[in-house]
Amino acid sequence: MRERGSDIWPGRVSGRAFFIGVMGSMDNALKELLALRDIDENMARIRKKLEDKPARLGKQKREVDTAEQDLEGVRDHVKQLQQIVDRKTVELRAVEDDVQKLSGQLNTLKTNEEYQTMQRQIEAKKGEISLIEDAVLESMEVVEKAKVDLPDRKARLDEERDRLTGKETELATELDELTKQMEALESDWQAKSHAVDPDALTRYQTLRSSLGHTALVAVSPEGICQGCYTKVTSNILNTALAGRSIDCNNCHRLIYMLS
Ligand SMILES: [Zn+2]
Repeated sequence: MRERGSDIWPGRVSGRAFFIGVMGSMDNALKELLALRDIDENMARIRKKLEDKPARLGKQKREVDTAEQDLEGVRDHVKQLQQIVDRKTVELRAVEDDVQKLSGQLNTLKTNEEYQTMQRQIEAKKGEISLIEDAVLESMEVVEKAKVDLPDRKARLDEERDRLTGKETELATELDELTKQMEALESDWQAKSHAVDPDALTRYQTLRSSLGHTALVAVSPEGICQGCYTKVTSNILNTALAGRSIDCNNCHRLIYMLS
């Protein structure tokens, strides 16, 4: 009786042992593709750095921008408060003058009624003075506190700005270096691609355009594709065990078995 699946590998004697025997003979087409895949993996890593590093610095710069805008807002607010204090101080002096004037007139009044009316006016003015004084004091407190806080905040932001400018210079050098590495890898890739079988190369490039360097992934000895983590058919696993690359039946990546 024919063993199930034996029509695929009619020559096998004892199942898996046969294929283990042929392992280690990874074919050249696969070796060449793996070389390209490794370069692609390196390029992906560099590409990520080329994107991430400026993005991270950009975020830090935006944070300083925001903090500087906030500081500017506080400064404007303090300026307005100072103007209010100045205006209210003038107002206060005028009301104080009024009180003094009215108090001076008290003795010149003829009737008790006139005297009491003026007393009430003086009391009202004194109430006004007290309100103005409260408002002035309140604003003055904020202004005085700001006079101490704002220079510190400004100094800290200036420091941060300087630090970021330094980082920007460092980053420019770093990006330059990464771009050079990228170019070197690119030309290495081109050089190595000439050795790859054209059909295999086309297949790999098509997959790479959507999957990146994970177009070609390993399959575990148990047959688990390391791209989609599902079990491939025994037929496919056998081809991989034989040292060749083959499509995963689930995710259609090229899979291979490490020898
Ligand atoms: Zn897969």
